[in-house]
Amino acid sequence: MEMETEVSGEKEKKQIVVLLIGPPGSGKSTFCDSVMKSPHRPWSRICQDIINNGKAGSKSQCLKMAIESLKEGKSVFIDRCNLDKEQRSEFVKLGGPQVEVHAVVLELPAQVCISRSVKRSGHEGNLQGGRAAAVVNKMLRSKELPKVNEGFSRILFCYNDADVENAVKTYSMLGPPTRIMNFFKKVSAVPASSSNEATNDATTPKANEKTEIVRVSPSKKLGSVVPTLAFPSISTADFQFDIDKASDIIILSLVKAKASRKNIDSGRFFTFVGDITKLHSQGGLHCNVLANAANWRLKPGGGGVNAAIFKAAGPDLEAATRARANTLLPGKAVVVPLPSTCPLHNAEGITHVIHVLGPNMNPNRPNYLNNDYTKGCKILREAYTSLFEGFLSTVQDQSKLPKRINQATMSDSGAEDSERNKKYKGLQDKARTNNLESGSVDDAGDSGKKMSKGWSSWALALHIIAMHPEKHENVVLESSDNIVVINDQYPKARKHVLVLARQESVDGLEDVGSANIQLLEEMHDVGMKWIKRFQDEDASLIFRLGYHSVPSMRQLHLHVISQDFESDHLKNKKHWNSFTTSFFRDSVDVLEEVKSQGKANVESEAVLKGELRCNRCRSVHPNIPKLKSHIRTCPSQFPHHLLQNSRLLARPESSN
Ligand code: AMP
Repeated sequence: MEMETEVSGEKEKKQIVVLLIGPPGSGKSTFCDSVMKSPHRPWSRICQDIINNGKAGSKSQCLKMAIESLKEGKSVFIDRCNLDKEQRSEFVKLGGPQVEVHAVVLELPAQVCISRSVKRSGHEGNLQGGRAAAVVNKMLRSKELPKVNEGFSRILFCYNDADVENAVKTYSMLGPPTRIMNFFKKVSAVPASSSNEATNDATTPKANEKTEIVRVSPSKKLGSVVPTLAFPSISTADFQFDIDKASDIIILSLVKAKASRKNIDSGRFFTFVGDITKLHSQGGLHCNVLANAANWRLKPGGGGVNAAIFKAAGPDLEAATRARANTLLPGKAVVVPLPSTCPLHNAEGITHVIHVLGPNMNPNRPNYLNNDYTKGCKILREAYTSLFEGFLSTVQDQSKLPKRINQATMSDSGAEDSERNKKYKGLQDKARTNNLESGSVDDAGDSGKKMSKGWSSWALALHIIAMHPEKHENVVLESSDNIVVINDQYPKARKHVLVLARQESVDGLEDVGSANIQLLEEMHDVGMKWIKRFQDEDASLIFRLGYHSVPSMRQLHLHVISQDFESDHLKNKKHWNSFTTSFFRDSVDVLEEVKSQGKANVESEAVLKGELRCNRCRSVHPNIPKLKSHIRTCPSQFPHHLLQNSRLLARPESSN
């Protein structure tokens, strides 16, 4: 990507400006000299210490010479300390369509730089001996590490000699431009232990900081945040997948070709070398979705990205993952929304982690493919497709775009929005229909049915799963000929699962008639079984089992929901009232009504606009936070009618 870009299928060579960043003694000049020994690419080393006819010169002289060298078709090393943003900014501006700007940060321990610069003799800038130590110390005090948002398309950190050696090799090999993944290979070939060896100091980067990340942004800003996905190369290290084979799939054929077909600016895809769990704090990147190269058990473990992400996210990620899926098949992805309490969310701004499982050529791991690269490449392709579609679903989720798509006449957001919607519609429809196992379509607030003559595309998620549970194995908890059980993707309580009917024509409660009694009974029984299972784990949980009078999602589905309503996803009045007013139709009542009158009664949506009342004492509260804090401790019994006819399902020993 960095050394060549594909524009409309043609390969284009790029020049590079590499800013060396490091104090005296960090090895900047040696780095340049080593790379320049390689005959592959013409380089010019621009060293401020000698730019003035062999004597120290000025920054502007360096800039002038850099421009001249670029004009001559050379790539350029800026060999000066470049320790703060201001010192770097003019050089970063040399970047353009034909020129990439990289930073190579020589972050060697201070004492190494000091001892080298004190000991050296014949230094070009005459900085040696005792004076050198003071200069190095002073410089390091005001050092500012480079960030991608300064304009770098690549930042490479070297923490020890082994890192430097690898970086030298990487740049030396940039001859006639090779493929993007060759660069990846070099970087990821840095032994994981090398940075660990440096020290265990908390400020010292860990192995995962050598992870390659590619960032993808959709073409338009949605609100103030550009949705951004960061992902490591999937299925290369742990799964022993040949990186050259993987390279075609990951970047060249898939991402870039797709991007160019959709007229997406290729500058939106870039590589960043650093810690995937510290993109904001260390890289200055605003990235909201992280892909995790997960294991099949969706558990922490291993030594790479998976371990690092689970560690950085803390136990919240494990819990949120469990709520979505227990295992993952190769090629599949599962989108996990991170609660706002999660450190990765509040410190780094990560709202979703997408676990992806790639193909495995490692005989010590499950689903070993025994060098079957035909199958492996197919699975890897699927893995990336699942990942990108999962990412798209989070974009839709944040922007609530689906709502607008089918509301051309109702849109109040002007021409820009409708243009944006047009652009996204194709992508969305594809994502929603093809990949709901990795989708994260939030219930957008209104009934999906009302928005158009049919169902909005986002409202089809449950229907699609119910029709093809075999394609959604990673989210299906249980299935039979008549029902499918899944976790509610946006659980409104500690336990919240959905029992979906598999019958084609039954979209919601209004479609239910005498012919469906057996189905309703089966759904009820399955719901009861899940309640038992949950209460076996935690006997204090109290449940209700019921249907929304007017569903927002297509396909009859029974909510099995615990009555604690402890959930970050319960955000508004509609959410609350849909589970705590007469809008929620208890399964026992629905069954009774269908048996006695051939159909179920449904409540009008108007009740959703009513006051926020406690589900126990019925006291009124001004807003959701206040209501939530009240229900946490409300000591009252549940209302009388709920205690009748097994509407409320509690273990006899639990107090309600
Ligand atoms: P209803 O209002 O009865 O149609 O409820 C739909 C439920 O589906 C809501 O509780 C949503 O949180 C949930 N939901 C929305 N999208 C998905 C999805 N893709 N997978 C699982 N649950 C979903």
